[in-house]
Amino acid sequence: MQIYWTPIQRVVQEAPDTYTFQLELPDGFTWDEGAHTHFALEGFNKEDKPNRSLIRHMSISTLPREGAIGITTRIKRECSEFKSILRDMKIGEQVAIFKTHSNVPLKREGKNVYLLSAGVGLATFRPIVLAYLANGEGVPHLHSLNVDTSANYLFNNVFTSSNDFTAEFVDSRPNYYKRVETMAEDQDGLFYLVGSDDFLRETIAMLRERGITREQIILDKRDFQLEDFLK
Ligand SMILES: Cc1cc2nc3c(=O)[nH]c(=O)nc-3n(C[C@H](O)[C@H](O)[C@H](O)COP(=O)(O)OP(=O)(O)OC[C@H]3O[C@@H](n4cnc5c(N)ncnc54)[C@H](O)[C@@H]3O)c2cc1C
Repeated sequence: MQIYWTPIQRVVQEAPDTYTFQLELPDGFTWDEGAHTHFALEGFNKEDKPNRSLIRHMSISTLPREGAIGITTRIKRECSEFKSILRDMKIGEQVAIFKTHSNVPLKREGKNVYLLSAGVGLATFRPIVLAYLANGEGVPHLHSLNVDTSANYLFNNVFTSSNDFTAEFVDSRPNYYKRVETMAEDQDGLFYLVGSDDFLRETIAMLRERGITREQIILDKRDFQLEDFLK
């Protein structure tokens, strides 16, 4: 396993508690849209066993052609040890990334794609939207629906409706479910879901009740975890 140690180049505040940490792109490091990585802080591999309190899964919110690895996360006042260390890190300090993989690349199968996310889950979809805007082949229409009860919606410059891409934000779960109901009328669509486990389970239940099959539901999970959600 290759571990890339790379410095923080820039920190962008996206919303009151939400930050994108832009990391320098190491030579030869690349990824597909929708990828996640293991993001770790200094000391995580000092002992025989990795220190899990210093490692988190994080999506990469950028594309390689943007020239930086973006990690977007919420850091509230009350937060884990991991987030409080991250919040205090300075530009130039190094973090580690390893085991990078995309479970959710954009499927170009001639079907409409619906990206359903909660809160900062939108970060996973940002590079998928950028990949689509650069090349819409095989996807007649792309639609994003994000629910965020803080109403501090992220990435407004990318999530702006244009011809074949539409973006929608709602600030409550009831409004979110109302919109999902309408989308499920597209019985041939592909539904990508990113959010908490509860969010995933509730959205899956709603889609399945409306005739969407498990093959049409795409989760950012490994094969062995999918069964648990989609059974
Ligand atoms: C494939 C995958 C991709 C992911 N991508 C992302 C991503 O792009 N961005 C992202 O942010 N997360 C992502 N996650 C989730 C991420 O790995 C973390 O689980 C998540 O960010 C929570 O981090 P944390 O455990 O450090 O807790 P925190 O975010 O610090 O806390 C979680 C909650 O607990 C509360 N809390 C924590 N500590 C305390 C305390 N001491 N006292 C009171 N309340 C407290 C916080 O207020 C918060 O509401 C991803 C997970 C997976 C599996």
